[in-house]
Amino acid sequence: RQPAGSILYLDGVSVSFDGFKALNSLSLVIDKGEMRTIIGPNGAGKTTMMDVITGKTKPNTGDVLFNGTVDLTRLDEAAIANLGIGRKFQKPTVFEHLTVFENLELALKTDRGTFATLFFHLTGQQARRIDEILGVIGLGDRRTEKAGALSHGQKQWLEIGMLLMQEGQLLLLDEPVAGMTDHETETTARLLLDIARERSVVVVEHDMEFVRALGAKVTVLHEGSVLAEGSIDTVQADHRVIEVYLGR
Ligand code: ADP
Repeated sequence: RQPAGSILYLDGVSVSFDGFKALNSLSLVIDKGEMRTIIGPNGAGKTTMMDVITGKTKPNTGDVLFNGTVDLTRLDEAAIANLGIGRKFQKPTVFEHLTVFENLELALKTDRGTFATLFFHLTGQQARRIDEILGVIGLGDRRTEKAGALSHGQKQWLEIGMLLMQEGQLLLLDEPVAGMTDHETETTARLLLDIARERSVVVVEHDMEFVRALGAKVTVLHEGSVLAEGSIDTVQADHRVIEVYLGR
């Protein structure tokens, strides 16, 4: 019953906190392999939407379907993560006292679906996978350094690498370039475009230059539902979008 080819389908999702509707009949379709940027003023419901997808918050009404059939509203956070839905919060949460390589090793999932314990014996395939991810996130030459010694941007890339280790099909990123330098922001745009070639990526972002660099379809949230959708140029020219950003 959801549009064919979608990885995520939110249909009429509402979330109320003490009678206040943080999400108000929100409907959204993300296609398989699509990158989508979500923007909207503070309080628009962006975080609540991410919380609903990852199972942290349960909607009062509405459906959240993954890959056509899986009803995410019936699953807890761990089960949703195990489906291959990975989330990165705004602040990097790497293990500062471990090396870059060890952080990725720790993010490796074992066959039993639990997280790997450090210093277990890596198979050749697993070691190659870590090397591959180190290349993708551009930290190959920092592998033996402690994560705590990395710059803010590098920590963000390492955390994205940790999500990639879990072979997620859908990555949810909350303001990945907040606090980054312009150069780091440009590098992050290239990194996300690269990883989006093989998976679906949803990015909540405030930085319009970065949103433009991603070149993805943009969804504008306002008062818990979709206000506008389209290219960054289309939504930035939309008078309703201009109004909510400037405040009436
Ligand atoms: P955004 O991420 O777009 O800034 P949020 O999803 O964080 O928006 O918040 C949407 C609205 O819901 C805000 O008005 C916020 O105050 C409210 N809200 C979010 N979480 C809670 C909560 N746990 N309890 C009460 N109100 C909340």
